[in-house]
Amino acid sequence: MTNDGRLPFSFELFPPRSDAAAVSLRETIGHLAATGPDFISVTYGANGSSRQSSLEVLRYIREQTNVHPLAHLTCVGSSHLEANRLVREFLDAGITSFLALRGDPPQGSVEGDQFLGDLGSASELVQLIHLVQTERAQYATLPSRSSNGVGHIPSTRVKVRVAVAAFPNGHPRSVRSNQDIDTLLAKQASGATMAITQLFFHAEDYLRFVAAARAAGVTIPILPGLMPATSATRLERILEVTGERRPTELTRRLASADSAEEQLDIGVEHAVGLAEEILAGGAPGLHLYTFNQHRAVLSVLEGVGLIPAASPTHKESA
Ligand code: FAD
Repeated sequence: MTNDGRLPFSFELFPPRSDAAAVSLRETIGHLAATGPDFISVTYGANGSSRQSSLEVLRYIREQTNVHPLAHLTCVGSSHLEANRLVREFLDAGITSFLALRGDPPQGSVEGDQFLGDLGSASELVQLIHLVQTERAQYATLPSRSSNGVGHIPSTRVKVRVAVAAFPNGHPRSVRSNQDIDTLLAKQASGATMAITQLFFHAEDYLRFVAAARAAGVTIPILPGLMPATSATRLERILEVTGERRPTELTRRLASADSAEEQLDIGVEHAVGLAEEILAGGAPGLHLYTFNQHRAVLSVLEGVGLIPAASPTHKESA
């Protein structure tokens, strides 16, 4: 729950790939920020490819809106020193919330064949983020001398929030059915404060996973990641990338829609139904994958009743 008693919601963005996309992303951020999300997260390109552009978007959110920015970070392919520097750079930019990820090795690489980094899992990155922040905070709180010569040490230091990924339907690399629960337990033991799930299209997949995680001892909030499938093409692409279970009825409805507008409405309607089911089942909030477009995700939040209906601003452009 947020301070005003509302269920929290949040959004994911990716860094822009062109100047034109950067301009339109700022507009999107304005629309999203106006709804009062708990945070806006920004993805991080595999192997650090978007380091600067991700940081720029995070800085923009931090400086130009009232919303808390959350930085995705990956560690695959990094030495311990490089990962340490990366975390420090983001902390120095004022970022205090992270989504710690291992990231995917470059396509075609085989474990053992090439250097995949000093950190073997997201759990190690969670620990590293806490460690770097602790070191920084200690330096920042060295005893200072006041005018009467008495030293003082501030009693608290800024804590970081470190989220991790969770996979209700199993990570593609998982070899055992309960491996994803064990991995989540390890991430929690390493200091993760929240999990965000891979997207899914069936409420029972999320609810079953949360129940199993709770039975195994996972206590951190498990925030469901939802993506409104606003076109047949997008749905196919997402199913291909994630290997998620196909929503057959949604696939059929998208395929028989007459226009892009109708497809968008169908995708939103499906996401609203899914959100209502998981919220009724106890989900602690909603995390929406935006694809850098505000219209569909804001329509989902309106449909669920988390924001007031039909603010004219977000209806104007996608
Ligand atoms: P981990 O949890 O460390 O491990 C992945 C696999 O290894 C799992 O199969 C797990 O079960 C297994 N494993 C882990 N630890 C152990 C262990 N100790 N023993 C045995 N097996 C183990 N990728 C990006 O490049 N950039 C992003 O911004 C990004 N954002 C994402 C956001 C979300 C919400 C999600 C769900 C995924 C995101 N990804 C992103 C994709 C992610 O990087 C990949 O799915 C990656 O393959 C796994 O990362 P992880 O942090 O879950 O890894």
